[in-house]
Amino acid sequence: MSEEILINVTPMETRVALIENGLLQEIFIERPHSKGHVGDIYLGKVVRVMPGMEAAFIDIGLERAAFIHSADIAPVGPDGFEVKDEVAPSIQQLVREGQMIVVQVAKDPIGSKGARLTTHLTLPSRNLVYLPRSRHIAISQRLENEEERARLLTIIEECIAQEDMQDKGGFIIRTAAEGCAREEMIEDVRFLKKLWAAVERRVGESRDVHVLYRDVPLYMRAMRDLITPHIEKIRIDTQHAFDEISRFIHDFIPEFRNNVELYMGERPIFDLYGIDDEINKALGRQVKLKSGGDLIIDQTEAMTTIDVNTGAYLGSKNHAETILKTNLEAATAIARQLRVRNLGGIIILDFIDMIDPEHQRQVLRTLSKALEKDHARTTITGMSDLGLVEMTRKRTRESLGQLLCSECVVCKGRGRLKTAETICYEIFREIMRVARVYENDVMLVMASQRVVDRLLDEESSTLADLEELIGKTVRFEVEPMYTQEQFDVVLF
Ligand SMILES: [Zn+2]
Repeated sequence: MSEEILINVTPMETRVALIENGLLQEIFIERPHSKGHVGDIYLGKVVRVMPGMEAAFIDIGLERAAFIHSADIAPVGPDGFEVKDEVAPSIQQLVREGQMIVVQVAKDPIGSKGARLTTHLTLPSRNLVYLPRSRHIAISQRLENEEERARLLTIIEECIAQEDMQDKGGFIIRTAAEGCAREEMIEDVRFLKKLWAAVERRVGESRDVHVLYRDVPLYMRAMRDLITPHIEKIRIDTQHAFDEISRFIHDFIPEFRNNVELYMGERPIFDLYGIDDEINKALGRQVKLKSGGDLIIDQTEAMTTIDVNTGAYLGSKNHAETILKTNLEAATAIARQLRVRNLGGIIILDFIDMIDPEHQRQVLRTLSKALEKDHARTTITGMSDLGLVEMTRKRTRESLGQLLCSECVVCKGRGRLKTAETICYEIFREIMRVARVYENDVMLVMASQRVVDRLLDEESSTLADLEELIGKTVRFEVEPMYTQEQFDVVLF
């Protein structure tokens, strides 16, 4: 399996693409005006406490107040550590209006929802996540080898002792730490210690709402979070980003030195694998499958549904086999689409009905296997009696569609337009309404080309009847700027 990371840095935006066997698997986009806030730490101000919701709104200087639930607030004792109470305290016991509070963004504002906050602070490095207010030592469940787990846990215990970090916070060992040397781990611990000291200093810099820590730019996050031993090459198209990345690689993953390259090609870097095309495709509803079927992906506020369809032709022989084949291909395609589109929350998959329980199991196995590569956490709950697969995918940032698109102004997000016929009948009703009220002999209808064409063609006899009924003349004018649904009836 060959994996590659392409990084496109321009003054307008930064884009990072993760490629697997020549195929786009994940895309990350950061623009100056829509830069995410996940991971940023603020000194915020409690602006409203809502006992009924066990939550509070916190001003962190963003457009909309951010939200925090009582479960995400850990009371901090005099020693600076989180206190665990037997009974969960209520929101009123935890915060009061006007209070200043150190918070971290857990979820970006998505759709109409404000950012979601937590006081369980975390600072990530390449191999570790530092928990400055906890004493917990933990290790990623993705590291499965028991021996390696034990080795890493021993190293971190030693590092903590050596770096005088006892009683200074907890650590989570990340999947990336697999095979990491003791020295690298010490580097990480030192780095995180300094980083947290800087955050603490900044708390005292002002009494107002202000930023204490901002996560590094996207291309640096990609280095920290995306590099695994599977990555064969990283190509960057801009000198300054290349320099910064090279320094990071030199300091933290020196064995990767020869895999980083400044891309100087004539063609834009994202043309190498047709990535812009892939992005455009990922904004559409339909995904074609090689076996002739397709996926239809619909994202709503509450959930995402993915419908699997067979191709038009289904041979009468081996009917069940054809369905299985399509569903298996769909399972792999779905896993990829979830990553490329960065879809999260509840996801309902409607595979083609399978009668054989073994076929169902095979499809579920293929799906969970394909999802293993996902950086976001996913959970499959199994197949319901109706053959629906319910799953969730953890998401902290907007989906690709939410990031790149806004609601269609013509249909207002409906995704469909009233037909020209429907509009013609709306126009007739409006003419009747106006005719009853006003004495004028002539009326002018302004509408789109398609609607006017229809009025003068298919609907012409209805129109003649109507004119006779109201005893008035109706004239038409094409308004090229009008959408199919727009029209005006004017007195003349
Ligand atoms: Zn539309």
